Order: sequence, then structure tokens, then C-alpha cells
Amino acid sequence: MSKLSYKERSKSWREKNREYDLERKKLWKKLNPDKCAIEKRIKKDKILEIILQDKLKNPCECGELNPEKLIHHHVNPNNKRFCVSKARSFITLEAELLKCKVVCIDCHKKIHKELRQKDITML
Ligand SMILES: [Zn+2]
Repeated sequence: MSKLSYKERSKSWREKNREYDLERKKLWKKLNPDKCAIEKRIKKDKILEIILQDKLKNPCECGELNPEKLIHHHVNPNNKRFCVSKARSFITLEAELLKCKVVCIDCHKKIHKELRQKDITML
């Protein structure tokens, strides 16, 4: 007899039958579009909430606190995988937030203006 718990057994089963499991999930989504849309919306709301909390925790250096005026700026544009508001999973969102600095719209414009000027002088 296996000593694995139900949860462990079900996890190892899912790993071994990954494709079947994915197909089953796809089918479930197809058969339950309403539930699926609700789940998606709940997840999106949670993602937006995490982004909002991050803005409130790290307001812009100029003192701007209004989250509607704050955005996540990728400090190193080469690291950018996607815009944080487009995140679809919590793991990728957390990873993306770590690459960002919260700045207000005005400071963001200044940063990019300076970057553009730097690019011009580098030529
Ligand atoms: Zn600012």
C-alpha cells in the first residue's frame, strides 16, 4: 500500500498525466464558461490589488501618493517581460514587480526624456 496522502497521490498523478490533466481543465473551461469567467475576474482583481498595494507601499520619490497617478517603471528595460498590469499569474507578477520602481506619471516622463537624451548623446 502506498503511504502517500490523497493530496500527494493526486499531485503525482497529475504530474504523470500532465497532458490529460490539461485537456481535462480545457474541457472544464469550455463546459463552464461562466464559472471560468468569474474565476478569471477574481484572479485579475487580486492581481490589481497586489499592484495597488505595491504602489501604496512605495510611492514616488517626489511625494506623489495618488495610486491613479503612479505606475511601475522597469528600472532595466532589458529585463522587462511584460507590463505588470497584464500579469496573469501571481508568481510572474511578483517577479516583475521586483524589477520595477514605482514612479508618478510626471517623473516617468522625466526618466524617459533623460534616457532619450542619453541615447542621443551616445550616438
Ligand atoms: Zn514623481
